[in-house]
Amino acid sequence: AKAEGRSTVRFFEPSMQAESEARLALEADLREALQTGQFRLYLQPQCDPLGRVVGAEALLRWQHPKRGWVPPAAFIWLAESSGLIDDIGQWVLGEATQWLARCDELGVPLRIAVNISPRQFMQPDFPQRVRQTLAHSGADAGRLVLEITENVLLHDPAQAAARMIELKALGVRFSIDDFGTGYSSLAYLKRLPLSEIKIDRSFIAGLPDDSNDAALTKAILLLAQEMELEVVAEGVETESQLEWLRTHGCRTIQGYLLGRPEPAGDLIERLQRASTD
Ligand code: C2E
Ligand code: CA
Ligand code: CA
Ligand code: CA
Repeated sequence: AKAEGRSTVRFFEPSMQAESEARLALEADLREALQTGQFRLYLQPQCDPLGRVVGAEALLRWQHPKRGWVPPAAFIWLAESSGLIDDIGQWVLGEATQWLARCDELGVPLRIAVNISPRQFMQPDFPQRVRQTLAHSGADAGRLVLEITENVLLHDPAQAAARMIELKALGVRFSIDDFGTGYSSLAYLKRLPLSEIKIDRSFIAGLPDDSNDAALTKAILLLAQEMELEVVAEGVETESQLEWLRTHGCRTIQGYLLGRPEPAGDLIERLQRASTD
């Protein structure tokens, strides 16, 4: 009866063929998106305790003529597994550094954080591409933050560390994204040239009432302070979360409460207007 139950369930699952066809279609669309310029670079502000914008995270948006707006969660995994992420990630890096150079011209002191996928990070020529992209744009390396996840360190920690040291020499900064959600040990924190950690949204969500989230967030803030790392809290949606984070010494805040992701030019123009007012 057990075996029969199982095969009944399987009967209603979408066929593997349909799934792989959908996947192939999405992959073809992604390729076309790159060639025909369907990607947009959005920026989400990161603010200091006074609400001033000190940085921004670059987030990819895809506007497809028929699919409409496709969220990154629906295609980054495929870009990663098909290898398209190398070119897509390079596009994001190019855009972000051009905006950084533009900020410099406008006198807007912004840092921009770019998400780097594990595969992109481990490409043999990645450091060289970062160097060339920075040189081409004229952007100041010190304003570029590379967000990587702990997963990058899992596969080959020694090689990942060597790569980070090589990139760090260019002047770029590293941030550990989704901190506390990966599987790696904390030992890497003292070995790697990190500037910042980002507290994952899942911890922020329970603040201030969930005592586990509060304890974990406090511990992360303390750890960061002791190790002289900057901290960004992400996914801050409410005033009470903001208040709690301020009280506990978190100096950089990102979340819908302070600003949603918006087209890069919109945010930068607004900052420029505000600075000349
Ligand atoms: P992430 O790096 O953790 O980015 C933060 C995500 O949280 C973004 O979703 C952002 O829009 C969302 N978010 C920000 N504030 C809030 C908030 O207050 N509440 C809630 N509920 N959400 C908030 P998004 O833009 O959909 O991106 C999802 C993920 O896709 C990112 O997670 C990142 O892993 C990936 N991604 C986005 N852009 C890129 C990219 O250029 N390259 C790579 N490799 N991955 C990217
Ligand atoms: Ca991120
Ligand atoms: Ca994150
Ligand atoms: Ca996340």
